[in-house]
Amino acid sequence: MTTDGNIFRCPACGKPVPAPSHPSFPFCSDRCRLIDLSNWIEEKYTVARPLEPDEEPDVAPPAGPSPQA
Ligand SMILES: [Zn+2]
Repeated sequence: MTTDGNIFRCPACGKPVPAPSHPSFPFCSDRCRLIDLSNWIEEKYTVARPLEPDEEPDVAPPAGPSPQA
């Protein structure tokens, strides 16, 4: 994966999207935005997936005061 400055890719068709200031960002066009949106809605209503519980990452306890005499 390359990072070419501010080049983003349309999630719907993969075409490069110029900049976040683009009116349809992150999509290359309004059409792609609608396509993705409809896909998303369909998925939401057709796929009933159980939510996974939030898994807390293993966090090491902070180092306590060192045993100094
Ligand atoms: Zn697109």
